Amino acid sequence: MAESREPIDPEFGATSADELAARLQHIEPEIEQQVADVARAELEDYDLEPEDAAVLASGDETPDAQAARPAPPVLAVIGRPNVGKSSLVNRVLGHREAVVEDTPGVTRDRVSYDAEWNGQPFRLVDTGGWELEAKGLDRSVAEQAELAIEEADGVLFVVDAKVGPTSTDEQLVAVLRRSGKPVLLVANKIDAGGQEADVAALWSLGLGEPHPVSALHGRGSGDLLDAVIKMLPKESKVAQQQPGGPRRVAIIGRPNVGKSSLLNKATGSTRAVVNDLAGTTRDPVDELVTILGTTWRFVDTAGIRRRVHLQQGSDYYATLRTQSALDRAEVAIVVLDVSQSISDQDLRIIDMVLEAGRALVLAFNKWDLLDDERRPQLEREIEQRLSHVAWAPRVNLSAKTGRHLEKLVPALQAALDGWDTRVPTGKFNAFIHELTQANPHPLRGGKQPRILFGTQADTQPPTFVLFTSGFMDPQYRRFITRRLREVYGFVGTPIRINMRVREKRGRK
Ligand code: GDP
Repeated sequence: MAESREPIDPEFGATSADELAARLQHIEPEIEQQVADVARAELEDYDLEPEDAAVLASGDETPDAQAARPAPPVLAVIGRPNVGKSSLVNRVLGHREAVVEDTPGVTRDRVSYDAEWNGQPFRLVDTGGWELEAKGLDRSVAEQAELAIEEADGVLFVVDAKVGPTSTDEQLVAVLRRSGKPVLLVANKIDAGGQEADVAALWSLGLGEPHPVSALHGRGSGDLLDAVIKMLPKESKVAQQQPGGPRRVAIIGRPNVGKSSLLNKATGSTRAVVNDLAGTTRDPVDELVTILGTTWRFVDTAGIRRRVHLQQGSDYYATLRTQSALDRAEVAIVVLDVSQSISDQDLRIIDMVLEAGRALVLAFNKWDLLDDERRPQLEREIEQRLSHVAWAPRVNLSAKTGRHLEKLVPALQAALDGWDTRVPTGKFNAFIHELTQANPHPLRGGKQPRILFGTQADTQPPTFVLFTSGFMDPQYRRFITRRLREVYGFVGTPIRINMRVREKRGRK
């Protein structure tokens, strides 16, 4: 459950966070383990669901094992509107119930699915819902395609064989060429025999052999998938970068807050801004930036520098860009402009970071413009509008003068440390035990929901699973989250707490 934007909830009981932390310090590791073992044993009396097994095992996974977890290769399906991308995606997925939606909420239009062919899993990115305003359609299509291609290991390029190659198709071919990614050309709408000439006409695109399919009727889809599996690497090269490399940072924020100024100051040189997407010049997608001896991978710097375009483009497109940068980043620097009020748009961007589960640093930019009148206003706004992310490191800086830019480094490091933190199962259950002894959940309808056992199922972001005997008030869950922060820090990271209510055996 994500933390919500509500005022701090009242204390449950009297025991303070300090007292709790002090008590926990004096518990021996063996005792912690015993507490966990007893709790775990009690859970055996409850009806567990099949999916619980994985969670119960996850707490013991070492961080290394997690880092090594490979990501399946990513296949992007691109093409201009109405060529049949979505039908093809449905055809590949086969059974709709197997579909898992990746990014709920913010980016309903950018959907990826878990797919599989002959035992090889892959991730399928459907750009079918990306259709934008009619104005400048070609440009939008090319941009959307470019985004999807950047994040893919291979591409299915879908063309309507009945229509033949159009100028938009040719633009897309140019984008594909520049990307250097492997591509399969799909000649769709080959619903019956006798269309060989239509298929042959697509050789002119210069992408090699067209694969004839009928997404609607399924014709040719098996052969196509065989070719897809042959084309894709076994593991994604883009979805999860090598562990141990520079950490990945996204600089995000609404237009004009100073993102590109900040980037330019950090990289130490002002670069030419490239606006011509369909042209041949291309900024690097990511840049390695060294600040005070630490190297970071700033993701989507091309998107940040292409600011003229961003202002002309729709909010929708800016949102896509932000989402795409967040997908690839580990930590986000949300840039705010202190000369202006903290706006709903700022808050939406922060919410995107929380939903994406990334570490968060708040950069209060244009500090040089802050005067005595504005300063108290700003402090009030921070208190009122940013209390739900009070745990995020804040850096007050000026991209213009370079003031305090170097403070971003410890802030990013602290946020990533929080994001990576794992509380061992023994410690976590001792924490739960101590906490619930002092502050039990309030009675609900004469019953008291209890936490039976808990484990940290994941890091990046820290994700806890609590097995409980009944539904827990959101307020109580927030209380637990707050105590977790007070005891273990978790600076700069969202924390997720998932509840699994389980019934005692034979009670049904
Ligand atoms: P972006 O749209 O977020 O990339 O914003 P830009 O980096 O293009 O900055 C927008 C405007 O704010 C430009 O005119 C910058 O010169 C100005 N600006 C950026 N950072 C600062 C700062 O720290 N102080 C002042 N005074 N102006 C700034």
